[in-house]
Amino acid sequence: MNRYVDEIRVIARKILEEKAVDLIIGFKEGSIPMMTEPVLIRDAAETDQLYWDSFCFMNLATYLPKREGKIGIIAKGCDSRNIAVHIVENQVKREQLYIIGVPCEGMVDRRRLCSLVGDKEVREIAESDGGITVRGEGFGHTLKKADYLQDNCIRCMHRNPVLYDAMAGDLVEERKDPDPYDDVREIEAMEWDERWEFSSTLIKDCTRCYACRNACPLCYCPTCFVDESGPQWVGKSIDPTDTMIFHILRAYHCAGRCTDCGACEQACPVGIKVRFFTRRLNRDVFDLYACEAGLSIEERPPLDTYRPDDYDEFIR
Ligand code: SF4
Ligand code: SF4
Ligand code: SF4
Repeated sequence: MNRYVDEIRVIARKILEEKAVDLIIGFKEGSIPMMTEPVLIRDAAETDQLYWDSFCFMNLATYLPKREGKIGIIAKGCDSRNIAVHIVENQVKREQLYIIGVPCEGMVDRRRLCSLVGDKEVREIAESDGGITVRGEGFGHTLKKADYLQDNCIRCMHRNPVLYDAMAGDLVEERKDPDPYDDVREIEAMEWDERWEFSSTLIKDCTRCYACRNACPLCYCPTCFVDESGPQWVGKSIDPTDTMIFHILRAYHCAGRCTDCGACEQACPVGIKVRFFTRRLNRDVFDLYACEAGLSIEERPPLDTYRPDDYDEFIR
C-alpha cells in the first residue's frame, strides 16, 4: 500500500467525524490496473475507500466549481494550484475548503508502461520505494518509476501543494531546472511552415470528443465556446481548420491559468499531446509577466487584470 494512503484516510476520517466538512473529494482504486476513480465520501465509515498511488493523474479541482457546503479535497501540487485559481476566480471560497495536501513524486504515464508490454494485458501493478512492478500473463518487469513519469511531471517545479490545511506526508524535494521550457523553445526554433506542419500533424487524429476539455479544471464555463450556436464561434466538424481553432482558442482560454497538470493529455483517447499548445502560452505568461498559475490566492491571472498606468500604449 502506498505510504500516503493511511495518512489520507486518518485525516479524512477525523474531519468528517468532527463535521469540519460535509464530504471529501478523493480517489478510490479503479477496477483495472493503472486506473483510479474520483470518489465523493460523505460518511467517516467509508474513508477506507480513499486511495493513492502513482496513477492519481486526474485533477480533482475539476469537481469544485460552484459546489456548496464544506468540502475536503485531496490535492497534489498541481491540483492545489488549480484550487487556488478557482478561489481567485470565485468558483469556490477558501473558507469552504479543507485541503489535504499530498507531496507528489510524479504520476506514471500508463501509456508508456503499456508500450513496454505491447499488446499483452497488464494484470497487476505494485509500487515500492522508487520502483514499479508490472505483471501479466508470462511477464513481469520491475522498473524505475522515474523513467516512466508523465512528461508534465518530469518538468514539474511545484510538486508540493502550495495551499493546504493538512499534509499527508513529508514534503518532497522540488526540481530546480533553469529551463523548464526547453521543449517549447525547440518548436519555436522551427521555421514557420515547419511549425505549422508540426501543429497540424499533432492534431490530425483529433475527433473533437472534448475529453481534454472535460478533464480540465479551468473549463467550467456553463456554455463552452465550442457548444455555442448563436453566435457559432467554431464549426462542429472535424475539418482541420475547425479542429485547429478549437485547440488554439482552448489554449488561449487557459493562458495564465494552466498549471500543466497534464489531466487533458491523459484524458485524450487518441494520445494527442495537447499540452504543446498550453505550454507555449504558459511560457509566454512566465516570460512576460513572471507569473505561474495558482501560486497565490491574492493575484488574478495576468490576462484577467490591468493597470491604468500600464506602460503599454494600447491601454491609454
Ligand atoms: S504536475 Fe507536479 S504535482 Fe502534478 S502530478 Fe505531476 S509531479 Fe505531481
Ligand atoms: S489545460 Fe491541461 S494541463 Fe492545463 S490546467 Fe487544464 S488540464 Fe491541466
Ligand atoms: S481529447 Fe483528444 S481527441 Fe478529444 S478533443 Fe481533445 S485532443 Fe481531440
